Amino acid sequence: MSEHVEAERLLDFISSSPSVYHVVANMAAGLERAGFTRLEEKERFHLEEGGRYFVTRSGSSLIAFTIPRGRICSARMIAAHTDSPTFKLKECPEETSSGLYTTLNVETYGGFPYSSWFDRPLSLAGRVQVAKGTGVECRLVDFARPIAVIPSLAIHQNRQVNEGQKVSVQKECKPLLCPGADKEGFRKLLAKELDVDKDDILSWDLSLVNRTAGCLWGDDDAFISSPRLDDLMCAYPAYRAIMEAEDGDKLKLIALFDNEEVGSSSRQGALSDFLSCVWDRIFASLSQGLEEKAMAEAASLMVSADNCHALHPNWSEKTDPTNKCVLNGGVAIKYSANQKYTTDSETASQVRMLCRKAGIPVQVFVNNSDVTGGSTLGNLSIRHLSVPSADVGLAQLAMHSSWETAGARDVGYITALFKAHLEA
Ligand code: ZN
Repeated sequence: MSEHVEAERLLDFISSSPSVYHVVANMAAGLERAGFTRLEEKERFHLEEGGRYFVTRSGSSLIAFTIPRGRICSARMIAAHTDSPTFKLKECPEETSSGLYTTLNVETYGGFPYSSWFDRPLSLAGRVQVAKGTGVECRLVDFARPIAVIPSLAIHQNRQVNEGQKVSVQKECKPLLCPGADKEGFRKLLAKELDVDKDDILSWDLSLVNRTAGCLWGDDDAFISSPRLDDLMCAYPAYRAIMEAEDGDKLKLIALFDNEEVGSSSRQGALSDFLSCVWDRIFASLSQGLEEKAMAEAASLMVSADNCHALHPNWSEKTDPTNKCVLNGGVAIKYSANQKYTTDSETASQVRMLCRKAGIPVQVFVNNSDVTGGSTLGNLSIRHLSVPSADVGLAQLAMHSSWETAGARDVGYITALFKAHLEA
């Protein structure tokens, strides 16, 4: 078996999961194959000791958990996010202003360098609501082939291109769809793909997809490059770990949230009540009362996992001078004095001990004090469920580019940490 088996599995998963809806649908299918029972939020939870369950919200967030035999006295939890920055397709997207081409009107989802989407084979994926009889059917769609390109402007027509300039999303980031003006060009293409009448398409959540296939590269395949490593590089190992973790005496739970890239404040984001609702319902279904639930909350450990910045080969001054994360350096424990990350010395020590026992290398991430870092999930999800928590992640380069780079061995390291954490 290849040294990079977990990285290869991750690449397969990313290429077969082009949108958040595919991420959750593919994980749900995998969990069902592994013996997990699907729960519906709008139905009563009938849970049993030793049972394995999962529940989704809005088709884009997922919580999976396994219940120990005996009373639940504590939990081992992992949080990560399913979404990545992209362009979302607006309603009535066809633009035909020149009369000679049809382009697509898009808006940004999250913060990212727009130019990383230029001159690449692009597709669209997501979900579509279709009228069916008197009801509505939700269909996943993945064109699974290049259908658009955002062409950059040739250097001959833009001599300042290498001198840094503002990019207008509304003007410059419209993907070219087809020659000729067709005010319903995309709607017709979508109807054909779904084999439905174009007038039965009611609404959609569709995003652009970079169709460049991810790969391992370099000496000994040391590096992994792909779209959406942030944060599928943590979400996918969490999903693998809960399926493979051995039975134990603690509740094991993974919470994978949508909308981290836009602040997490949606109904399915880390700021919602999704996790706390599921937590409450687990205890209610097992007839464990408020006192036991509160004790378990205090005795638990959450590992919140989201990628962080590696030392950049050409920009070393952007990194903290004494804590330099590198690709393939192992799991990074993330610290922030202003509590952007939840890690403290107590929770960090627990993660370090897990890694020590399992032989997993550890490094430390803190922002350079003159560089403002991004936000993440941990300090948001614990607003509703205040369990002791540590932020971890894997070091990567070009975060939020449509083509990100990380260390291939690190995928195996975080999978091993997640398994050790859930089994502790
Ligand atoms: Zn992230």
